[in-house]
Amino acid sequence: MITSLNIHYTSKVDLYNAKTLLANHPSNQILIQVFSGQVTPAAIETLLNDLRTVFPNVPILGTTTGGEILNEQVLEYSIVINISLFEHTTVRTLLVDNNDDLTATGEAIGDGLKTFQPAALILFGCGLKNRRTIDATSLLSTIYEKLPQTIIAGAQAGDNGKGENTLVFTEAGMTDSGVAAAALSGEKLIVNNRYNLSWVPIGKKMTITKVDGARVYSIDNCPPYTLYSHYLGQEVADGLPLSAADFPLIIERNGIPMAIHAIGVNDDGSFEYIHSFQPGEQLQFGFCHAGLLALGAQETFNSLRTEPVQAAFIYSCVSRKWILGEDIKVEIAPIATLAPTAGFFAYGEYFTFPRNECLFFSQTMTVLTLAETEASSAPIDRVALLSDHDSKQLKTLRVLHRLVETSAREIESINAKLAELANKDSLTELSNRRHLDERLEHEFYRAVRSVGPISLIMLDVDCFKLFNDTYGHVEGDNCLRSLAGVLKVIIHRPIDVVARYGGEEFICVLPATCFNGAMLIAEKIRAGVENLSIAHRSSIVVNFVTVSVGVITVEQGLEDMSPEYLIKLCDEQLYQAKSRGRNQVAGIAL
Ligand code: GH3
Ligand code: MG
Ligand code: MG
Repeated sequence: MITSLNIHYTSKVDLYNAKTLLANHPSNQILIQVFSGQVTPAAIETLLNDLRTVFPNVPILGTTTGGEILNEQVLEYSIVINISLFEHTTVRTLLVDNNDDLTATGEAIGDGLKTFQPAALILFGCGLKNRRTIDATSLLSTIYEKLPQTIIAGAQAGDNGKGENTLVFTEAGMTDSGVAAAALSGEKLIVNNRYNLSWVPIGKKMTITKVDGARVYSIDNCPPYTLYSHYLGQEVADGLPLSAADFPLIIERNGIPMAIHAIGVNDDGSFEYIHSFQPGEQLQFGFCHAGLLALGAQETFNSLRTEPVQAAFIYSCVSRKWILGEDIKVEIAPIATLAPTAGFFAYGEYFTFPRNECLFFSQTMTVLTLAETEASSAPIDRVALLSDHDSKQLKTLRVLHRLVETSAREIESINAKLAELANKDSLTELSNRRHLDERLEHEFYRAVRSVGPISLIMLDVDCFKLFNDTYGHVEGDNCLRSLAGVLKVIIHRPIDVVARYGGEEFICVLPATCFNGAMLIAEKIRAGVENLSIAHRSSIVVNFVTVSVGVITVEQGLEDMSPEYLIKLCDEQLYQAKSRGRNQVAGIAL
């Protein structure tokens, strides 16, 4: 059985009052957690000295905060102390004074605790470096790799939103650039964790178009600022980057929606985010309101109420408190009915998916619960946290959310169809001239950058005017369709472009294709058309439909050319094929 005691610390006297409770308890079976809204080094120094004097040799794990949690209450600038007394669990703390290399810090913590085999590891990391929020992803993944059986929980220290300096500490001392950890080991320890994001994606799906790690230069080819002001309004844009926390970007990674918000605006207009992105990743803006929060809290509570819980800790995000104000209590209060609850509002939260991974979250409430024996008492009843009034507002907001999302998805699918139509030639369903120009330009400059070869094939139906005159335009159209069919079968790499250039002329763009390859494809096309055996009795070549084909491959000197010049060169080869008697391929490599 764990005895968990919360103290709203105001002076040393509060500690002496608790001292009697700890008498005769082995000190390595006690953990004192400290959540301090007093964030100066001097304040922490005094507090730590008081604690060490009253509770010598007792493991201490502490952090500065952006708000404190004392059972169902939310406090600010206060000091909340939790004392947990274990019957069967031993506690060990560790302080690593390094956040220049978080992988090394993770290794130090993981290696330091390997033989201890903790069931739970509570981590408080410093939250800021150079006034920006730290991304703890590498710290967490390194520790998790070393301690895959451990539930890692905790969060990053805050400083009441000042963004200047954060501190973490153990009984051994404090640091403003490192990580403090408390490991709990014991076979009877029952550890549970939960998290609640409650931010939901809304509106247009967007794509990261230019990014370097956590520095985003463009989303949907737009500078981030333009995007925020366009979709969220000037009010939000004016308050950046702080206002971005209300509307974080929601991204789904391995099926887990994560909220990632901007933490800085750089001079060059790029935005710094709390997490790294990959180019091409899709995301949406996210929003939250008290109703969603209550729903999430209800789910968390109902899933924990059947578990044994003797001590509960909430490590939540400061932005939840900023955005939701008093409403934040909606998600704290139900947890506090399970067991004594303490915690703080942080600059980033740590969460472990057992036997899977440990992730760095932001905007998220995480809950860690501990118990030492199976619960013998009956589970607590389910709760309905929403009042009738709340439910009605929530219903309206939920419907509005659905309305926006349904409209956004419909517009997306219509846009996709329109884009396809705008790029297609209606007769042959190949790419049209417009799309060809666009793709050729793109592939041309890519080839210039990668110094790779690029090939073009241009083909033209022989004596097609005579075909039309003989068989009529309808048959002429059918003939062009059959020809397109041949091209579609022969050219199928996703980056290749097959387009109707105009009339009875076609162009194929073959990026990263050498001359021999292009000539081979050209010959396949010529033979493929011949093999269609479409009768053409008035042709001056043979008595079925044939094509003449021009090929150009540029392997060097591309930077001095242009896409239009490539087409001109290819057209010259086509002219060669025509003048040499048609139904043949002419090509050149430069
Ligand atoms: P060459 O062997 O020198 O290429 O002779 P040609 O008759 O094919 O060349 P020309 O450029 O003189 O004629 C092209 C003809 O293609 C003109 C037109 O009748 C036909 N044509 C162009 N577009 C279409 C189309 O969309 N449908 C049909 N049925 N015919 C088309
Ligand atoms: Mg022609
Ligand atoms: Mg022709």
